[in-house]
Formats: sequence, C-alpha cells, structure tokens
Amino acid sequence: MDSKVTVDGLTFVPYITRDEIECQVKRVAGEIRTDLKGKNPLFLCVLNGAFIFAADLLREVGINDAKISFVKYSSYEGTSSTGKVKEIIGLNEDIEGRDVVIVEDIVDTGLTASMMVADLKKRNPRSIRFATLLHKPESSKTGFKPDYVAFSIPPKFIIGYGLDLDGKVRNLKDIYVIEED
Ligand code: IMP
Repeated sequence: MDSKVTVDGLTFVPYITRDEIECQVKRVAGEIRTDLKGKNPLFLCVLNGAFIFAADLLREVGINDAKISFVKYSSYEGTSSTGKVKEIIGLNEDIEGRDVVIVEDIVDTGLTASMMVADLKKRNPRSIRFATLLHKPESSKTGFKPDYVAFSIPPKFIIGYGLDLDGKVRNLKDIYVIEED
C-alpha cells in the first residue's frame, strides 16, 4: 500500500486496506446469500464507482443463476455533490417479479440511492435490496438506509477500489482518505 497518493494536487492517506475490504465484502456476500437463498437475483451495478465492488461481491455471493446489469447516474463534480442526480445510462432489463440487489460504491447524501429505489419500484420487482461498499450516515439528506453496508464512515472524501476523483485513481487496491491539515 502506498503511504500517500497525490491526485489533482490533493493528498490522500491510507484508510482501509485491501485485506479489510476483502473481509467485509465476504461478510456482506454471506448476508446476501442467506437472504436470497433459493431465489434468482438480479444485481444492478451502479456505474462507474461500483464496478470493482460488484465484481468481487457477485463472485463471493456465488449464486450461479444470478444475473448482473448496469445503470449509471451522476451527482458529483470534483469532491462535492451537486445536489442533483442525472440518469446517464438507464435500465433496459425487465425487472418485474425479480429480486433486485442494487450494488453501489458509496451512499453519501442518499439522493442517488433514494431516487433509484423510487424509480425501480415503479417497475414492479418482487423485492429491492440495496448493498453499498461505504455509507456516510452523517451526510444523509434523505434518511436513506442501505440494507447491506461493508463500511460505515465519517463524511470525508475517499478514493480507491473503484471510487474516483474526477475519473482517476479507481484502480487503487486500497481505500485512501483526503489528508487533513
Ligand atoms: P449521493 O447521491 O450524494 O449519495 O452520492 C452518491 C455518489 O457520489 C456515489 O455513487 C459516488 O459516485 C459519489 N461520492 C460520494 N462520496 C464520495 C467519495 O468520498 N469519493 C468518491 N465519490 C463519492
């Protein structure tokens, strides 16, 4: 793990190691496997940030009949939320009667999450569950509560394991937090 990462003039320090991530992804996968036993779930990966978490989670859950599809929304510019959520890639899958598991990288204000769930409910799935790698409960503007959370963290900007700063550093295997002076 690098001791510091600098991107766009900002410095980030180590926060969550790849081993801790692996351990919590396994825990969440176990919870999902138990809850969805005997079902045939559709995982909905929220691009771009959740692609690495979703890849690891899907393999850990280990249900061969599970399918995965992708949606994309955007609310962030730089290191802060714009407060508005845009749908960029919509869902072209029929989810009627399906058990859907939304897979998100991070729930911050909860705006993206609550908008997605409200939108997907209109398409009559049998159930909707929400799994997130990270949750910043103190940033919530909606009271949205994910069903599965790998890590609950304070409202600080983080990068790595799929999470970006202006599209960069998604490749980092560990998670880093912005350095405070
Ligand atoms: P929300 O709608 O405010 O909950 O924001 C959700 C989206 O904001 C996430 O899917 C991320 O793309 C982005 N985001 C929120 N916090 C962070 C962060 O600390 N690092 C990188 N992206 C973040």
